[in-house]
Amino acid sequence: MLFIPYKRYPILFCFKTGRSLTLQHILYLDFIDSASLLKSVGGGDGVGTPALEKAMAGQELSYKDGLQLMNEENLFLLGAAADNIRKYLKGNSVTFVASYYLNYTNVCAASCPLCAFYRKGNDADAFTLSTEQILTRARIAIKEMGSTELHIVGGFHPKLGLDYYENMMRAIKAEFPSIVIKALTPAEIFFISRLTRNSVKEVLLRLKAAGLDALPGGGAEIFDPEVRDIIVRGKCSSEEWLDTARQAHELGLKSNCTMLFGHVEKPEHVVDHILQIRELHKKTRGFTTFIPLKFSLENTELEKSNIIKTESPSTYDLRVIAVSRLLLANVLNNVSVYWVALGKKLAQVALSYGGNDMVGTAYSEEIFRAAGKDTGTSIQELVSLIKEIKREAVQRDTFFNIIRRFN
Ligand code: SF4
Repeated sequence: MLFIPYKRYPILFCFKTGRSLTLQHILYLDFIDSASLLKSVGGGDGVGTPALEKAMAGQELSYKDGLQLMNEENLFLLGAAADNIRKYLKGNSVTFVASYYLNYTNVCAASCPLCAFYRKGNDADAFTLSTEQILTRARIAIKEMGSTELHIVGGFHPKLGLDYYENMMRAIKAEFPSIVIKALTPAEIFFISRLTRNSVKEVLLRLKAAGLDALPGGGAEIFDPEVRDIIVRGKCSSEEWLDTARQAHELGLKSNCTMLFGHVEKPEHVVDHILQIRELHKKTRGFTTFIPLKFSLENTELEKSNIIKTESPSTYDLRVIAVSRLLLANVLNNVSVYWVALGKKLAQVALSYGGNDMVGTAYSEEIFRAAGKDTGTSIQELVSLIKEIKREAVQRDTFFNIIRRFN
């Protein structure tokens, strides 16, 4: 076989069959890895954009570099570079957590155009779980499904006091002291703070005393204020989200962080968002992983009002994941692929574009289900998906400590 660099699109030519393969095909062949691929096509030798060369040299990328990668870089080279750096930083394993999603209410004082989940209090299908109902679900999650983490998020309920959340967490910890409670995004914490007239710090301290171990990273959406104005309504600002996450980290509460992409944002908003995450993480070291979330359109106001007609193409999704890996390299080294939003097959591909984590089993996830996504899986299925792409499946806890390896 022979590698033929054609412009910036290398082609693999087989003398025996007379067939040629594009770089995309090559990435999925077992006999070659991304490192040798890049070398073979001259990566690190002036073939990629200057930004890609910088990334390959291990240099920190600027806003301008990020834009160049989003706008100009060849996708396959970008993916190969991100895969190569992922391998260097995180090895061959793909991690996930056994996590049960507990959506305690869908009642929400906000009404974000991006959301298919929220209801108003008098809607027929509005719900709010009691502490006893939450305990019943926690028992199923922990005893029957082997969950090590309860991921608890909901709407901005206008009538639930801080005691509702404290009672929920105390009751769970009384029965299951070792379960990790990862609950309430910075956006929810900020809302509760305003609603109950407590400072963010006071809310966090009281919840931590009641059993809160970590925060999920939702509600970040996109930090750019103009884009945010189009996709959210009644949610905290980006500054408030970042400040709440910072305060949580300073109190010893780790969190993940997210970015919702694939709606009305432009490449500059993606780059700006990731860099703001990078800067906060440099200060607090409080994020566990970065999760780029692909926007799901079905049943949202953005769909009904025709502002968005289709979901983003897979090529864009892969680009965002690869750029996330390169912009965050050496600062925040876990980049998660959320299979619920991407779909299981594209999630497998994304693991070759910089992803090293599959988030989790997400048992009982309701929010993306409301937007038409298939949210069911099992530990066995995640392990199979990872093994199919010749990577090692590793079950982790919330904080990325290894629980079990599936060889
Ligand atoms: S995204 Fe969150 S805050 Fe916005 S409407 Fe939905 S549940 Fe409420």
